[in-house]
Amino acid sequence: MKTPKLYVVIPCYNEEEVLPVTAPEFLAKLRQLIEQGMVSEDSRIMFVNDGSKDKTWEIIKELSKQDEHFIGICQSRNRGHQNAVLAGLMESKDVCDITISIDCDGQDDINAMDEMVREYLDGAQVVYGVRSSRKTDTAFKRFTAESFYKLMNLLGAEVVFNHADYRLISSRVLQEFANFKEVNLFLRGMIPLVGFKSTSVYYERHERMAGKSHYPLKKMLALAFNGITSLSVKPLQLIMYMGLIMSALSFAGVIWAVVMQLTGHSIIGWASLVCIICFMGGIQLCSIGIIGEYIGKIYMEVKGRPRYIISERTEDEKKTDE
Ligand code: UDP
Ligand code: MG
Repeated sequence: MKTPKLYVVIPCYNEEEVLPVTAPEFLAKLRQLIEQGMVSEDSRIMFVNDGSKDKTWEIIKELSKQDEHFIGICQSRNRGHQNAVLAGLMESKDVCDITISIDCDGQDDINAMDEMVREYLDGAQVVYGVRSSRKTDTAFKRFTAESFYKLMNLLGAEVVFNHADYRLISSRVLQEFANFKEVNLFLRGMIPLVGFKSTSVYYERHERMAGKSHYPLKKMLALAFNGITSLSVKPLQLIMYMGLIMSALSFAGVIWAVVMQLTGHSIIGWASLVCIICFMGGIQLCSIGIIGEYIGKIYMEVKGRPRYIISERTEDEKKTDE
């Protein structure tokens, strides 16, 4: 087997504080892999600037001038983490043999890359980076994150437990993945659907080097909700079950009311009635909301807008400089 050409895909959004610290670490890692003969010399580190509002793109351009192993692409505006990763993967799928996507904040242990490449050389096409512990997280973050995976699996969106978007994907798998045209992206749930031989490697996750997380609870809930409604129709089935149970309950209620009437205990309070009406109304609104969410998704998919737009590439600039 020939030495694989690796592209490390790194999404960056407002990371001017972090990039200067982590970029040299990524480079050192890549150099080490090259020296060990695990990946080829023309491997690259590809930064995807996700429409940052700070100096991130300038830093990336500067890095690409300093070392040929650094390259960068720039999205025309901020489109979110998932779209940024997708843009990087799709850009690299035709020019390399394997990609590793990783966040730029130094939280994911870059030393797990050795193991990932080794697994690839042993025949795996997809290697998931899985956090072995969440010691560095606050108890709250840990609880919410772990509930997130459990809830997702319960509702029919299969995801690898404690795996975020740190993974190796071969270009073979990416070629097939390119046919998944949906605009509602939830990569960690979609990649397993492509199939092929996969495995996991374990690593410890560190604190963020600098800057702050772009995934507060609100965004995490949105991601979970998006993941569930993108990958599964179970919530729609649940609505039906809920409807059936409610109808059965109301039916029992009617019988109860009739029996009360017949036995002379006529019902006085309207309170119970109002409660039931409110309860029913609430359930109906929730159900319509869930259905609305799916219809919204269909609307977005039908429009079929591009999932990423690249406005600049460091490679193009180099060509015009020459
Ligand atoms: N990111 C991005 N676009 C966004 C938000 C985040 O490309 O709109 C990048 C960010 O630069 C980082 C990665 O996605 O490399 C993960 O973000 P973050 O570290 O804020 O999330 P957390 O690790 O806290 O879940
Ligand atoms: Mg992070």
